[in-house]
Amino acid sequence: MDKKDIILTPSKYGKDQYFKILKQGQKENPNHIYVWFENNHGDVERMWINKVEGSIKSGKGVLLNEPALFTELNYGDLVEYLMDEDQVIYATSIKKGPHCMCCGEFIEDEDNALHNSDKDKM
Ligand SMILES: [Zn+2]
Repeated sequence: MDKKDIILTPSKYGKDQYFKILKQGQKENPNHIYVWFENNHGDVERMWINKVEGSIKSGKGVLLNEPALFTELNYGDLVEYLMDEDQVIYATSIKKGPHCMCCGEFIEDEDNALHNSDKDKM
């Protein structure tokens, strides 16, 4: 089997599964959004982000997955997304991380990134 057949999901396929996974994840955590990443070649990877700004229709969130296909992206990147008329939530732009999972702020010094624990104390 060609390796490509395993990893690549053409954009016209896999939407039913996408909606199922999105719905399930939203039940567990409404801030978790399953985003559809697609490049100019039609390659697709779907990954979770933690929403830090906006609504499910448009906003920003921090990438929670380590990409398998789009290896130029990383856990902690800041993703802007937009829901289209088919209810698919597409990534529209990506800012290199790491970004704070709770507020999306860029982390310059990872050793001193205490946003999460700071908020827990409040
Ligand atoms: Zn923060």
